Formats: sequence, structure tokens, C-alpha cells
Amino acid sequence: MSTAKCPICGRTAAPRPANRAFPFCSDRCKLIDLGKWLGEEYRIPGPRAGDGSEAPERPVDREEDEP
Ligand SMILES: [Zn+2]
Repeated sequence: MSTAKCPICGRTAAPRPANRAFPFCSDRCKLIDLGKWLGEEYRIPGPRAGDGSEAPERPVDREEDEP
């Protein structure tokens, strides 16, 4: 367990004392992972509600969406 692989790019990540970005290989990959988390957070709130930043002007059959 001496080495770890960066979950973003798969390259070897240096151990923690020397690597602030652990378990990532670099700050860059750390930021990429952070961005992924934020992206997922935005998607979590609703099935499709979060997707419509623009209000639907056309009538949509919502009943199809619900069981
Ligand atoms: Zn990496």
C-alpha cells in the first residue's frame, strides 16, 4: 500500500506528506474531481426539474413521468 493511483488520470499519486492533492496525483486532478462533484450535486435535486433552466412554454405530459 505504498503507492496510490490517481482516480482521475490513473497515474501514480505520491504519498500524502509530499502530495497535498492526495489521493490525486496533482492539484489539477483534484480540481477536476471537485468539478465532477459539483456537477453531480447540481443534478441531484430532481429527475428533470434541474435540467429546465428555461421554462417550458409548451404543454408537457408530466403524468407520463410519474408512476
Ligand atoms: Zn491525476
